Amino acid sequence: MAAYEYETHDYDVVVVGAGGAGLRATLGMAEQGLRTACVTKVFPTRSHTVAAQGGIAASLSNMGPDHWQWHMYDTIKGSDWLGDMDAMEYLAREAPKAVYELEHYGVPFSRNENGTIYQRPFGGHTTEFGEGPPVQRTCAAADRTGHAMLHTLYGQSLKHNAEFYIEYFATDLIMSEDGKCQGIVAWKLDDGTMHVFNAKMVVLATGGYGRAFFSATSAHTCTGDGNGMVARQGLPLQDMEFVQFHPTGVYGAGVLITEGARGEGGYLTNSEGERFMERYAPTYKDLASRDVVSRCMTMEIREGRGVGPEGDHIHLNLSHLPPETLALRLPGITESAKIFAGVDLTKEPIPVMPTVHYNMGGIPTNYMGEVLNPTKDNPDAIVPGLMAVGEAASASVHGANRLGSNSLIDLVVFGRAAAIKAGEIVDPKEANPTLNQASLDAAFDRFDGLRHANGNVPTAELRLEMQKTMQADAAVFRTDKTLAEGVVKMEAIAAKMDDLKVTDRSMVWNSDLMETLELSNLMPNAMATIVGAEARKESRGAHAHEDYPDRDDKNWRKHSLAVVDGPKVTLDYRPVHIEPMTSKADGGIDPKKIAPKKRVY
Ligand SMILES: Cc1cc2nc3c(=O)[nH]c(=O)nc-3n(C[C@H](O)[C@H](O)[C@H](O)COP(=O)(O)OP(=O)(O)OC[C@H]3O[C@@H](n4cnc5c(N)ncnc54)[C@H](O)[C@@H]3O)c2cc1C
Repeated sequence: MAAYEYETHDYDVVVVGAGGAGLRATLGMAEQGLRTACVTKVFPTRSHTVAAQGGIAASLSNMGPDHWQWHMYDTIKGSDWLGDMDAMEYLAREAPKAVYELEHYGVPFSRNENGTIYQRPFGGHTTEFGEGPPVQRTCAAADRTGHAMLHTLYGQSLKHNAEFYIEYFATDLIMSEDGKCQGIVAWKLDDGTMHVFNAKMVVLATGGYGRAFFSATSAHTCTGDGNGMVARQGLPLQDMEFVQFHPTGVYGAGVLITEGARGEGGYLTNSEGERFMERYAPTYKDLASRDVVSRCMTMEIREGRGVGPEGDHIHLNLSHLPPETLALRLPGITESAKIFAGVDLTKEPIPVMPTVHYNMGGIPTNYMGEVLNPTKDNPDAIVPGLMAVGEAASASVHGANRLGSNSLIDLVVFGRAAAIKAGEIVDPKEANPTLNQASLDAAFDRFDGLRHANGNVPTAELRLEMQKTMQADAAVFRTDKTLAEGVVKMEAIAAKMDDLKVTDRSMVWNSDLMETLELSNLMPNAMATIVGAEARKESRGAHAHEDYPDRDDKNWRKHSLAVVDGPKVTLDYRPVHIEPMTSKADGGIDPKKIAPKKRVY
């Protein structure tokens, strides 16, 4: 074994991640008196949750009639009938409680005249089981809801004596021989020391893996580390082929340009200066739905009409709009264009491309956050000692497609649920587990191997190759041909992980090594995504397959499970939970209302 000295820390619970999900879980654990550590690679309030502006969905009925069953229905339809009914019921039912808790913890929500929480409309949120008008369901703290949530939850966690390990990078899980999670290994970035956290429960809240693609709206830290840790233990990842795209991220930087830019009259052009959306969507043109616009942009690029030296993006034109309109209605966009694309949008177009926005797939869990390792006899078998929450997890409430403002509510509802469950099953009086030395050794060996990697391919080069391939072959435009080619390319790229070159061998602030560890996590996420997509011969939610344009419930209403071993991915499937938690007789939703039908808006 590689010889590293390390410090051991004993806790009841270790939460990895301090975004909305990690902080809500940490707070809930600490409130119950469980000794809780929260380990995070960035300062808590710098987690990607901070970037969420729009808001958090809950049927509070502050702006007009609403009902948890309507929220449940909208979530089911949004998921394109791939979500688990029990989890979706739990989300919709518990949402109001979770939002009021946030309010009482101190989240400064925007207010109505009468003092209630302000709620705004959001896509896909409706009344009367999709039959009535849109509903104002999304609770907001101005345009910084995620920011407000993180600050409040961090403060509350400190108040309840949760202990934070900030700028500690978790590298691997420690598992017992019989498959129980016992803790994690972490590397302290600023002084190079190593740490072993021994815990009765580990909660992964490490966020999404947007950075497996070239263009993502998510932070550079969104590298799917928890998913990578799980994959390395031979445990499956679920529904990874479902990746949500937004049409207008700034080329290269990925920063989001709101749909409002097109709403104000902006339009897209290709290398011939053509307003190509008129050809694809004569009625709505540039304001067709997100997935449609993203798909058309990708077709133009694939057919050689992209702009820029590599012909790999599209122009968003706003310079024809009066400068007053830009200053008044789109001041943030004017600034983003300047900072991230270096363009003055009163004179030049913004380079944009369809950009990864959210990962529906992740670590499979039940609605109490417990991680699943399905077996032939029991598709809902759990991994003792391990939970996952937030974007890292697949509970599954978003199924094949997530509705706007349903992620923030997922973070707090399931962060809270995980704490409730841990309160029931973690016994503070019990002794901590004796760590499995073989598992510990494996974690240190892997770390040491990457630190001394002396092959031929620099990390940044391999990462770029992966990102460009995923963007070209596993993005919006998917056919049998592109996916099959993509799988072959990605297998070759993943195999190069054995030929990596790390130049910095030090332990202190070694960003070369940190990025290499992150790449080792991104790679299994990317492999599971593209192989899962290649296998799924239907179109459902975010997975739009040109060769199979229809949803096929008979053969494909099932969750994909991907076990990743280097470049090799083994697929299996798990049934969707089609029964809600509560029967109609006990006040649950009418089963007739949630039977699968065509998803039209
Ligand atoms: C630009 C943008 C806007 C959005 N707007 C909205 C919105 O308005 N409404 C909505 O519902 N959703 C929105 N979303 C989606 C939503 O914000 C995210 O899905 C959600 O914030 C993810 O939260 P999380 O807690 O799971 O992870 P994150 O907030 O990403 O946090 C991950 C945490 O894990 C830690 N971590 C990761 N790896 C390691 C490791 N190896 N070791 C230690 N720590 C680690 C990080 O330090 C961090 O603390 C938006 C997303 C983006 C990108």
